[in-house]
Order: sequence, then C-alpha cells, then structure tokens
Amino acid sequence: MLLNPALATKSTTLHKRPNHRNSYRICIPVLFSVLAGAFALAQSDEDSFRQRRDEMVRTQIAASRWGGAEAVRDARVLEAFREVPRHRFAPAGLAPHAYEDRPLPIGYGQTISQPYIVAKMTELVEPKKDYRALEIGTGSGYQAAILSRLVAEVYTIEIVEPLGAAARKRLADLGYRNVDVRIEDGYYGWPEKAPFDCIVVTAAANHIPPPLIEQLKPGGRMVIPVGNPFQTQRLVLVSKGTKGSRDIRVQEIMPVMFVPLVGGLDRK
Ligand code: SAH
Repeated sequence: MLLNPALATKSTTLHKRPNHRNSYRICIPVLFSVLAGAFALAQSDEDSFRQRRDEMVRTQIAASRWGGAEAVRDARVLEAFREVPRHRFAPAGLAPHAYEDRPLPIGYGQTISQPYIVAKMTELVEPKKDYRALEIGTGSGYQAAILSRLVAEVYTIEIVEPLGAAARKRLADLGYRNVDVRIEDGYYGWPEKAPFDCIVVTAAANHIPPPLIEQLKPGGRMVIPVGNPFQTQRLVLVSKGTKGSRDIRVQEIMPVMFVPLVGGLDRK
C-alpha cells in the first residue's frame, strides 16, 4: 500500500534477525535517561526541601514570635537548622509537613517539637565546637542531629526501644558519626561519659533529675521542661556554678508542652 519499500525491507530484516547490539544501543540510553530522570526528580525534591528549610529558619526561628518568645540569633544554630533535613526524621507520610510551625508525631505517642522550640533549646545551652553534649529523649534523633553539627560529641538516651533503634539507624544512614544512642532510662544520665558541657532534656519531668545536675560540668548549662505531664510546663535553664551540685541557678524561660519523662519507679 503506501508503505515505503525501503522501510518495509528494514523492518522485515529486523524482525528476522534480532540485532542484540542494536537493542543494547537503545536500552542503555533509555536506562540512563530513566536513572537521570529519577536522580533529577530526587534532586529537585531535595532542592525544594532545602528552600523550605531556609524559609522555616527565616520565618519561624530567626523571626520574633507571638507571645513575646524571642527570635533565635546564634548564627551557628541557624545554620544547623538550614542543614539538617528535618523531613528525613519525620514518618514518611508526614515529610511534606516537616517544615511547618508545629510538632510532628513520630509514633509511640511521642513527638518532635516544633522547629522554634528545638532551636531555642539548642541556643540556650550555648553549644561550642569542643563540647560534649547529653540529650535525654532521642525520639526521632532530630535534636541529636542538630546538636551534632554544633558540638564535638553527642550522647543521647531513649527509653522506648524501637524509637531508639530506629533513630540510631537513621543517624548512621545520614552520616551523623559523632552521635551515640543508648536505650535506657535517661533520668540517670550517662555516668560513664560524664561530665557534660551541656544537657538538653526533651521530655517533661516534675523535678530536675539530680543525676543530671551532678553530670553537668561546672559552668555547664541544661535546658529542661519542668511540670506536670499533659499540662503546660515551664522550660527552665539550669546553670551550674563551680561549687558543686547545689550551686545552680534556675531561670524560667517560657511555657511549653512536652510529653512526660517516664521510667524510674523511685521518682514517683
Ligand atoms: N528529641 C526528640 C523528641 C523527643 S520526644 C526528637 O528530636 O525527635 C520525647 C522522647 O523522650 C520520647 O521519644 C520518649 O520516649 C523519650 N523519653 C521519655 N522518658 C524517657 C526517659 N526516662 N529516658 C529516655 N527517654 C525518655
């Protein structure tokens, strides 16, 4: 019919003797473009998450907030929040919400605090490059990852085994090598690694655990929500002097809502 005889001959030939070389020639570029496409897509996702992190820092963390809460100003802290991929610490379905101004559920009834609170707590302990930090309440590992960008060593304790195990794996996969995760009751701290230059407690206790005060270096700072569970608590900054565990100054910073510090029968 209207077939070009030249084409017809070619296609017949192809049909008769499948030329594997030709199929590879076709397949390899196709494979490359599929991979390149997937890479570009992942890259553009990462780019868009990076943009949202910048925006989170600008509008939620470095900006003055309602209720008189002060903006976070420490430039190193702000840089850590621009760097650490918060969406990788959220459960998969919640990644799109990772940069919103709110806490995120992470399973087992626990949450990662909203970005501003994590940032304020981090700034309050005045992290320095050569510091050894302790965190109580690893959760997803996000606060530990932020601290790991700012200090030399991070020790973090989680009481819920599956959360601790998942955080340990996540932190290793993301390349945070200076973080050590322990599954234990954090009320008692980590005596083998004490003293700590700073301590961040991310679950609320009805009193400041004495073992943590003891494990704080003279001149060290600890931030902890104090109060009853399921009510508003007070975020307090504890500064330790040089004359032992009784030489502490406790400063109230702001009202907060944290999940409770559980465990240790002896503290009820
Ligand atoms: N810092 C976390 C969020 C903390 S949520 C993050 O960045 O994702 C509070 C966490 O404290 C929960 O995971 C909870 O299981 C843990 N926790 C509660 N009591 C604890 C205790 N006694 N010792 C260690 N972890 C505790």
